[in-house]
Amino acid sequence: MQIKFCGGINTVTGANYLVEVEKSKFLVDCGLIQRENVCELENFEPFSYNPKEIKFVFITHAHLDHIGRLPKLIYEGFRGYIYSTLPTKELAKEILLDANKVIKEKCSDWDLDIGNIYNDENVEKILNRWEGINYHEKLNFDDLEIEFFDAGHILGSAFIKISDRNNSIVFSGDLGNIDPLLNKTEDLPFTDYLVLEATYGDKLHIDVEKRKDILEDIIEETLKEERVLIIPAFSLERSQEVLFDIVDLIEDRKVPEVRIFLDSPLSIRILNIYSKYPEFLNEEARNFFVKKDYSRLSYLKIIYDEEDERKIIEEPNPKIIISSSGMLQGGRILGIIKRFIEKENTTILFVGYQPEGSLGRKLLEGEKEVEIERKKYYVKAKIEKLLSYSGHKDQKGLLEWVYPQRKNIKKVFLVQGEENPKIILKSKIEDYLGIKAYIPKENEEIVL
Ligand SMILES: [Zn+2]
Repeated sequence: MQIKFCGGINTVTGANYLVEVEKSKFLVDCGLIQRENVCELENFEPFSYNPKEIKFVFITHAHLDHIGRLPKLIYEGFRGYIYSTLPTKELAKEILLDANKVIKEKCSDWDLDIGNIYNDENVEKILNRWEGINYHEKLNFDDLEIEFFDAGHILGSAFIKISDRNNSIVFSGDLGNIDPLLNKTEDLPFTDYLVLEATYGDKLHIDVEKRKDILEDIIEETLKEERVLIIPAFSLERSQEVLFDIVDLIEDRKVPEVRIFLDSPLSIRILNIYSKYPEFLNEEARNFFVKKDYSRLSYLKIIYDEEDERKIIEEPNPKIIISSSGMLQGGRILGIIKRFIEKENTTILFVGYQPEGSLGRKLLEGEKEVEIERKKYYVKAKIEKLLSYSGHKDQKGLLEWVYPQRKNIKKVFLVQGEENPKIILKSKIEDYLGIKAYIPKENEEIVL
């Protein structure tokens, strides 16, 4: 078995791994490269393999940085099959169609003609070649066995074990943190090799247990000081998680009712997919989704169009606005931020990862003057963070997950992280678990 690390190497995003065995070549994930922008120019560069030779693609989960280059793969001649869990397939459809709009916008900024690559027709072609499978339903191809396990990261997310006669390897995808909606990440099974995500390889989520209390304090302050609380959230997962906790606080009468605007049509469509797959949720969330119809909560307003969007701006404080994208790379959130960032009675609460160089990272680092769509803004808003809502395991969580298999694993390959988190996690894995850890370079090929 041979692996080539084609993406997810120099950034957290763009996950793309080529596996070659005697009879076939296949991929694990085919993600979009994202940094400051929702889509970087590298997404138009040729793949470092021939898409026509790829027989299968196994998808860990539906985040854009794991699926976003599939339209390009099919455009360049891929005619194989894609496998993932069923909710991943359904979520992927929504995410890819939405991405096409944002990519088109970005490309017109660059005067770049995206031609026939990232378009709805290619998304349709991909879906026609995409099969849904269950966790632990074993696939057998070309002397290989493939098994999906629950990663607890987003609805339908998986880590994938691939075994041939000699070796086995696990691709972690993204591994979940404590999530109010999902089951915990399943235990790591026996494996010879592990490709491990390192997004938070250098961080500890100190406030996981307290995050709901902190959220309660922030909402109480919003009410008392008549503020607007803006929560930029990924359409997929973070919006649903944060909303779930806020609604829970209101229903438990821990905070008074407050007007909440969910300003992301994509989040609503995704919420409906959650309701469709209760067997993929944990018990508490299952009850909640079965019992409660979000559309009947009088204090929750779902925003479908721009007309409604104007109303959120006019609605007096206090109010809460949850809008996407979570990384402030486009979408409706930018309009909202521009409108409120120079006002003192604004709180912006970050609940997810902000990439290096991004507007979100600049705000978190306390910059007082930022540029949004080529215009300068003075930051008067109060910036708060609750990054433990992040859907990723922190350093401790990653080490604990690997620990039970420490005697069996021959080597861990660290991917999907910035340089520093990977270096720190490498030394922790070597010192605490006694396993060799390696940071692959882009397009490096390794024979197992
Ligand atoms: Zn993810």
